[in-house]
Amino acid sequence: MRDISHKKRIESFQGEFVDHIAHEFRTPLTSILAYIEMLIDGEATDQESKFMFYNIVYEEAHRLAQLIDNLLNLSRLESGMATINCSPTRLKRLLETNLEVIRPQCEKNNQKLVVELDERQPTLNVDKSLFSVAVMNLLGNAAKYTPPGGTITVWTSSNEEQFQINVKDTGVGIEEQELPKIFDKFYRCDTAQDETVTDSGVGLATAQKILHAHGCDISVSSKRGEGSMFSILVPRSLINTSVGD
Ligand code: ADP
Repeated sequence: MRDISHKKRIESFQGEFVDHIAHEFRTPLTSILAYIEMLIDGEATDQESKFMFYNIVYEEAHRLAQLIDNLLNLSRLESGMATINCSPTRLKRLLETNLEVIRPQCEKNNQKLVVELDERQPTLNVDKSLFSVAVMNLLGNAAKYTPPGGTITVWTSSNEEQFQINVKDTGVGIEEQELPKIFDKFYRCDTAQDETVTDSGVGLATAQKILHAHGCDISVSSKRGEGSMFSILVPRSLINTSVGD
C-alpha cells in the first residue's frame, strides 16, 4: 500500500492553478475579442468611439502581456531557474523611466503624481529589468487602487542600515487583517474585488520574489480608506560607488 494523498494534493493544486490562470487569461481576451468584433461589425461609427475601442483593446492586451511577464518571472524565481544579472544601475534613471510609463495612466485617472527625487540618487547593483518589474508593480498598484483626485508620491530615504524607495498613495487602503496575505500568489483584497479593476493578484508576489532574490525586502503600511505606503528596502551592500547606466 502506498500513501498517495500528497500526490493527490499536488494534482488538485495543479488543477486549481490551471483553472485560475485560464480564468485570468480569459477575462482580458474576452474583452479584446468583443471590442474587435464590434470594430469589424462597424459599431464604432465615429472617430471618437473608434479611438475608445482601440484604446480598450490596447489596454487589455497590455494587461495580458504584463500578467504573462509576471507569471513567467514568478515561476522562474520559484523554481530557481531565473538568472539575475546585476550591474551598476543609476536609480534615478530607472525610477524616471518607470515613472514615465505610469504618468499617462495617472493623468487619465486624474491623479496627482508627486516625484521627490533629488540629483543625489545612488547607483545600485541590481538586475535592471527585474528590479524595474518590482518598481512598476508598486507604481501600477498605486495608480489602480487610488480614486480620481488622489495623490501618488514617490521618494527615497535612507538610514544607516538601508536605503528605501517609497511609493505612497491616498487610495482605498488595505484592512489590517489582509496585510499579511497581500504578498501571497493570487491573493486579492475585498476592496479590489469590489472595484471594476480586474487583476490577478500576482503583482506583489512577483515584486517580493524579485526583491528577495536581490537581498532586498518590501514593507507596507496601510489603513483602509486612507491609503497605503509600500517601501523597497535596499541593503547598503547593494549600493555601488562606481557609475552605472
Ligand atoms: P493585483 O494584480 O490584484 O493588483 P497584487 O499582487 O499586485 O495583485 O496585489 C494584491 C492585492 O493587494 C490587490 O488585489 C489589492 O487588493 C491589494 N493592493 C495592492 N496594492 C495596493 C494599494 N496600493 N492600495 C490598495 N490595495 C492594494
